[in-house]
Amino acid sequence: MAIASIKGFRDVLPAEAARRRAIVDAARGVLEAYGYGEVELPLLEKVELFSRSVGATSDIVEKEMYAFEDRDGATIALRPEGTASLVRAYLDAGLARAQPVARLWYGGPMFRRERPQKGRYRQFSQIGAEFLGREDAAADAETLCLVADICAAVGVRGMRIQVNSLGDAACRPAYREKLTAYGRSVDLLLCDDCRVRLERNPLRLLDCKNEGCRAAMEAAPLMIDHLCDGCRDHHAEVLSLVLSAGVLLEANPRMVRGLDYYCRTAFEITAEGQGAQDAIGGGGRYDGLVAALGGPDLPGIGFAFGVERMQLASGSEADADAVPLAMIAPIGDVAAPAALALARRLRQTGCRIDLESPRRRLKAQMKQADKVGARFVVILGDAELESGRATVRDLKAQKDHPSLFALDDEAESIIAALGCVE
Ligand code: AMP
Repeated sequence: MAIASIKGFRDVLPAEAARRRAIVDAARGVLEAYGYGEVELPLLEKVELFSRSVGATSDIVEKEMYAFEDRDGATIALRPEGTASLVRAYLDAGLARAQPVARLWYGGPMFRRERPQKGRYRQFSQIGAEFLGREDAAADAETLCLVADICAAVGVRGMRIQVNSLGDAACRPAYREKLTAYGRSVDLLLCDDCRVRLERNPLRLLDCKNEGCRAAMEAAPLMIDHLCDGCRDHHAEVLSLVLSAGVLLEANPRMVRGLDYYCRTAFEITAEGQGAQDAIGGGGRYDGLVAALGGPDLPGIGFAFGVERMQLASGSEADADAVPLAMIAPIGDVAAPAALALARRLRQTGCRIDLESPRRRLKAQMKQADKVGARFVVILGDAELESGRATVRDLKAQKDHPSLFALDDEAESIIAALGCVE
């Protein structure tokens, strides 16, 4: 029996891979324009990194991590997200001292054992960026502009950025108490998950998708009405700066982020084409995270986009593969060495050249050339080997050019000769 892939893990075939590469390249261009440097992070980290940052009470750490014991007894996990790893790398490299204000980005696969559905996989790819060392509203505003510009460059349709403020250590504890008290007053109406959240992570009560919970939380107190002066001013300044840069935001006072370390600005990006999971990205400020991971008390703000969700949002039409400039058609084994050598030389110029099997009949080879859309077929049979000159059939003009080039001509001049044929 054939072996299938693991549930939630998928293969990306060439047309889709090209599309994903185009998305990452578009995002990379914008990130570079904003002065972000790329960091390549490991796929495995110590579990502790995520329990200390993402938080032991989050779904990601509690239920979704692929964690296991290594042969030496260390508990390690496939990374479920990138922010904690990036901050660890920033601290490991001594950047907190050498370059405390840093703009860094990363991309690549993340692993979460969630229930797979459209747009939700157990291995998925993210593009994430972190702006470390700045706590002022201008840093949040610049980050939100970056988010909007990445969406524009990738061609995301129907982008909406929702923002909220989650308060900080000065105002959130008192709000949390209020919210918990409210939650307890309606706890008979809440789902089982929310009853657990009520004691452990009450902010999550606000974004439960369950209809009963939504209705019960309708009159719940909201963080935005309980911000301290510092958080309120910060939030107002962020909104006004972003507006002045021409980026539209939507207030969503019920938006919370799943991760414990967020404070003040939090945002989520939604788009068309997603189905039930409409977030294509999210992020926010995490001023306590660097210290929680053993570094100095430095602030940070960042976000991550899901590449698969961006694919859905920017149209899933597969891009056509590059069309070959020419297909080389060797007739019989005698032509195989010359065909392979010629193909290799031409391919070194970077042009796509297809090479057919010397054991197929010319007719079958011509059919294949038509199928892949090759512009020329370079025929190498007995006569061509003897004269040292290939026959070139122009599939567009439907005619042969018997002596366009000699087999030992320079590759560049052969490519040029093909380019000039009309
Ligand atoms: P998060 O790290 O949870 O803030 O997620 C950031 C973005 O990653 C989300 O908005 C999604 O676009 C994407 N994402 C998160 N989890 C998954 C998943 N299981 N499958 C596909 N994309 C995901």
